[in-house]
Amino acid sequence: MRWTRYFLNTLREVPADADVISQKLMMRAGMIRKVAAGIYTYLPLGLRSIKKLEHIVREEMNRAGAVELSMPAIQPAELWMESGRWQKYGKELLRIKDRHERDFVFGPTHEEVITDTVRDAINSYRQLPVNLYQIQTKFRDEVRPRFGLMRGREFIMKDSYSFHTSRESLDETYEAMRQAYTAIFHRCGLDHVAVEADTGNIGGSASHEFMVLAQSGEDAVVSCPKCRYGANIEKATSKFFDDEPEPAPMQELAPIHTPGTQSIEDVGRFLGKPTSQLVKTLVFDTDEGPVMVLVRGDREGNEIKIKNHLGVTWMEMLADSRFEEATGGPVGYCGPVGTKCRRVLADVSLKGRANWIVGGNKRDTHISGANVARDFPEPEWGDFTTVFAGDPCPRCGTALEIYRGIEVGHIFKLGTKYSDSMHCTYLDEKGERQSMIMGCYGLGVGRTVASAIEQSHDADGIIWPMPIAPFEVVVTSVGKEESVVNMATELYEKLLAAGVDVLFDDRDERPGVKFKDADLVGFPLRIAVGAKSLANGQVEWSFRKDRAKQLGAPEEVLARVIDEVKKARV
Ligand code: ATP
Ligand code: MG
Repeated sequence: MRWTRYFLNTLREVPADADVISQKLMMRAGMIRKVAAGIYTYLPLGLRSIKKLEHIVREEMNRAGAVELSMPAIQPAELWMESGRWQKYGKELLRIKDRHERDFVFGPTHEEVITDTVRDAINSYRQLPVNLYQIQTKFRDEVRPRFGLMRGREFIMKDSYSFHTSRESLDETYEAMRQAYTAIFHRCGLDHVAVEADTGNIGGSASHEFMVLAQSGEDAVVSCPKCRYGANIEKATSKFFDDEPEPAPMQELAPIHTPGTQSIEDVGRFLGKPTSQLVKTLVFDTDEGPVMVLVRGDREGNEIKIKNHLGVTWMEMLADSRFEEATGGPVGYCGPVGTKCRRVLADVSLKGRANWIVGGNKRDTHISGANVARDFPEPEWGDFTTVFAGDPCPRCGTALEIYRGIEVGHIFKLGTKYSDSMHCTYLDEKGERQSMIMGCYGLGVGRTVASAIEQSHDADGIIWPMPIAPFEVVVTSVGKEESVVNMATELYEKLLAAGVDVLFDDRDERPGVKFKDADLVGFPLRIAVGAKSLANGQVEWSFRKDRAKQLGAPEEVLARVIDEVKKARV
């Protein structure tokens, strides 16, 4: 491709509304263009990277035994009513009506459509297992679309769904998909980890997220440097609270006057005690009424763990204005002794401890000497807090580390959630009807491309891993001399003939402009042809990574560049 015949316009200015580096660089490099919040055009250059990733994804999916199909973006509401998600999905689901006032959705995911497809086609255990995938456009009306392709509203996903007659068969496919994902991210040159993920309240099933490690990641990943334990912070546990303290003699309940101490830190300072010796009270509003959660004063409540334990569909922090009415205590002075909350949860870190200092359910008052069972009913115990860096690994005890990550893939053992509600069944060997056991596997295509940029860039632009770079090589003509243009054209044509993905920067621009653009777009390899070196029979080539310039005879440089491109194509 010649630049002058291509559609590639770089921007000098950083777009004002871009908030992460990948978005800035993709917009400046002319890869994407924003059409509306979270909705982008993939310009020719951007589409190239997307297609290259899709090609890798297809190769690995096919290798793992998955079969490609393509489902519609627009789906009838009836299917969503059958699965129950028409009511449950919330505002991320874009609901639309056709001219006959019939309800449809723009698919945010395809469990319903695939389950409907498979239940129609498959009747016998002999036809199972199957694993079907597509690469397709989704729409999710995200609350806060941002970060360019990383959290769009319209985005491309590879989604697959597998159907089985047994847990063992699901385990096998799940493992094959786990390996396929690892291979995909490895081939893209991404520094990534697979971590255990929260499975919501579907229960029992396994789930892993694939995280690309990057400072801008929206997720936090807990990882053990020794045994490779890894989990999303939403789910991670630690060994921190295994030891129960020595039982202490119970003291009397006693009120303490604690004026103006609404936060746990205030209370600690006021009483001259570390917050670890205090009990922090959190109150949540849920669709089943207010719930009190008690955690050690120096730990943070983990809303995902709490919500999963409760099994509620909706939960948020109780509004200050509702405190008195819902709990019987004022904001900042709530506690378990005499609370109106019907469900009280307590973190295991508090188990076995005597004489708690808790809110007194009265303004400016705390109570000391509060004891489980004697002063308030036995709470529901569980792991309700978030792991901190340095906590001991739940498997081996080593100090845990915490990283930021971008979730690029998510694999999930669904079980029979959809096959039960949508009656996706088969006849087993005995002729009995059984629900199919399902797995689902998602991979964000645009998000993965963006995460490569988050992970690899410098002040001048993108540094692409070769396998998903829009072009592998740029040939830059420096100057308008006939010999220069002829040599550059010759090299370009020879690279094309060798099957290299090459862009010829044949624009009539100053060398500075051409080199700046090449750095911005991030072509992994560059060949520059200029009059001065050509007079000595040489052209210059360099890698974008280090930009160290090397000179050589054109044929020799050509051979080296072709060799480097081939080496990178794994
Ligand atoms: P998140 O927690 O980031 O919202 P999710 O759990 O909703 O992700 P899944 O439903 O598991 O995501 O979707 C599978 C994959 O699709 C994700 O791993 C991610 O790579 C991608 N993805 C999800 N939402 C978006 C989005 N709004 N924009 C771009 N990619 C997305
Ligand atoms: Mg989401």
